[in-house]
Amino acid sequence: MKRRSFLAVCSWALALPCLGQYKAVNPKVSKIVREISEAHVTETLQKLEGFGTRYLYSQQEDRERGIGAARRWIYDQFRAFSPRLEVTYDQYRVKKGEERNSRLVRDVDLYNIVAVLPGTVHPEQRIIVSAHYDSIVLAGPTGGTGGGDTARAAPDPEANSPGVTDDGSGIACVMELARVLSQYEFDKTLVFVAFAGEEEGLVGSTLYAAKAKRDAVQIEAVLNNDIIGSEASGSGRIENRAVNVFSDDPPDSPSRTLARYVKEIGERYVPSMRAGLVFRQDRVGRGGDHTPFALEGFAAVRFSSPQENLANEHTATDTFDNTSPSYAARVTRVNAAVAASLAWAPKAPEVTERIERNGQQTANLLLTRGTGRSDAVLRWKQERPEADLAGYAVVMRATTAPYWERDVFVGNVAEYTFPDLSIDEYIFGVKAIDQEGNESLVSPYVPAPRAKRIIETY
Ligand SMILES: [Zn+2]
Repeated sequence: MKRRSFLAVCSWALALPCLGQYKAVNPKVSKIVREISEAHVTETLQKLEGFGTRYLYSQQEDRERGIGAARRWIYDQFRAFSPRLEVTYDQYRVKKGEERNSRLVRDVDLYNIVAVLPGTVHPEQRIIVSAHYDSIVLAGPTGGTGGGDTARAAPDPEANSPGVTDDGSGIACVMELARVLSQYEFDKTLVFVAFAGEEEGLVGSTLYAAKAKRDAVQIEAVLNNDIIGSEASGSGRIENRAVNVFSDDPPDSPSRTLARYVKEIGERYVPSMRAGLVFRQDRVGRGGDHTPFALEGFAAVRFSSPQENLANEHTATDTFDNTSPSYAARVTRVNAAVAASLAWAPKAPEVTERIERNGQQTANLLLTRGTGRSDAVLRWKQERPEADLAGYAVVMRATTAPYWERDVFVGNVAEYTFPDLSIDEYIFGVKAIDQEGNESLVSPYVPAPRAKRIIETY
């Protein structure tokens, strides 16, 4: 009796490396999360405040003050983290804005700072972690919906513009991820970007995203961090256990799919943090550097504090003392878990196939009712599946539900049937899982909307 139960435990344990990994944590990802250092985040926040201002039109040449000094410091830090980081300036000559209220008050040289950690299996697949290093101080009262887009005098390039929460906190996150993750090798390429000109209308990110689209760069995900250093709102509301994650419609857009991944993986590795998904592009009436990527068709989300203090925003009081390094470090850990998981994960399976119909190439959704016409039959394709692929999981949810409700690991197959289930009432998806438990993004089965028809009459 004893011996038999011992054997049963043994065979159960032997089966673990295959089946037990799904939804388990990958110890390598957990280690990365533990290596995120609040002390480093603190140092970066203080250093960024020390440049006095990082306004786009501040000093470019001074060694200690202004956006030029900040840019060179970020560049040098990236270089110092690892010889495997390929660090460059992504430089543009931006013209003065045409509109009357443009914050592009004259022609200016703009530099994004880019650090690339090349992947070893799918180097063409890129995951971007970003924030903006420029700051701004606006004269006069902040009105409207909080962003202050009303007409006012151009900011003084000499004035103090500490920008520690907005967006020194995001830069501290990007730099800490670059420091820790550059000590590892990932399947996909990780790109750490510090954008400039965000405060003049998402200028650096718009130029970068348009160029990526033009060059057919394969960006799988953009994790943008903007204002992740505030845990107390202007009304005194306090919250340091949640981070808002904004993603654009429609309900299964690439960005929304990425947001669901952030919730699933972020909360798995950092259970003390809630990913509060917000199903809208950004905060009401306001913008961020994820949006130019979403507009180019890439998956892009914004991490932001649910407790902004608008009294400090775009003012001389956006200081280190008014910023929470511990909260910024917590959000950084969520970013680390998501970026590392995704960079080790297989590519997402394909759920459409190209077919020729009436001499035209069309995309055919691999979702049918099966031969009995009352089942849900899911098929998928994986080009060059990875050697360490464990298999696939299928997911489903009601059309009205925000998150996946059912999640079934189905093994290393290319088809799965939910018997006697109407495909009309649910949204389905499939993801690939490797033997370490790293999950790809979900590929949702989204039927193409019917096109408008024009009927000839006589
Ligand atoms: Zn910002």
